[in-house]
Formats: sequence, structure tokens, C-alpha cells
Amino acid sequence: MDPGSLVLGAAIAFGGIMIGRLLPRRSSQPTQHPHQAVPAAPRDPQPICGCGHHLVFHDHDSKMCQAQVVIPGRWTGQSGGTYRKCMCQGYRGPIPLDEYYAPDLLNGDS
Ligand SMILES: [Zn+2]
Ligand SMILES: [Zn+2]
Repeated sequence: MDPGSLVLGAAIAFGGIMIGRLLPRRSSQPTQHPHQAVPAAPRDPQPICGCGHHLVFHDHDSKMCQAQVVIPGRWTGQSGGTYRKCMCQGYRGPIPLDEYYAPDLLNGDS
């Protein structure tokens, strides 16, 4: 075999490797970040009821939800949305710790 063709072939192969390195990498596939895909858990969990409203919307005594919900017009056949009171009968979510009553020992006059 002609030694010149070997050198030429090696040069072509070497050049191909260099071109492959110089070309930018294909970015068609998005880089996977499994840790960023899942949203971070809130540091302070909010007492959200099953109806989707916060605990503050529920009456403290009757536990009835006082929040207003928007009924889309296409549900009632009207042109615009209407406001209805939330039908939630009570808060069933987690109770925050500040619900507990702590007696003030400083003002205790025994
Ligand atoms: Zn509720
Ligand atoms: Zn509600």
C-alpha cells in the first residue's frame, strides 16, 4: 500500500475528530435535572382545606368556608360568571401549631 495514502487517511481521520470536537454539541435533547423537575416542598406548609381555600376563610366556630367561588357562565348559561359561597362544610386540613393556647405565666396572679 502506498505510504502516502496512509498518511492522508490518517490526516483525514484526525481532521474528522478535530471537526467533531470543534462543532457544538447537539442540544436537541434537554438536559435532565431530576432534582429541579420536582418543585421544592414549601418550607412553611400552609393549612389549605380540601376545598382549596386557606384556613382563614373558614369560620373559627362553625368551620364553614366563607370564601367566594366563581361559577363560570358556561355552567349556568349566563353571560358572565357568578359568585357563589363555597359549599365547604368545614376545614379538614392540618391544624397549625399556633392554634394551641399557651397561658401567659407572667400575668398569672395566683
Ligand atoms: Zn374548606
Ligand atoms: Zn372553601
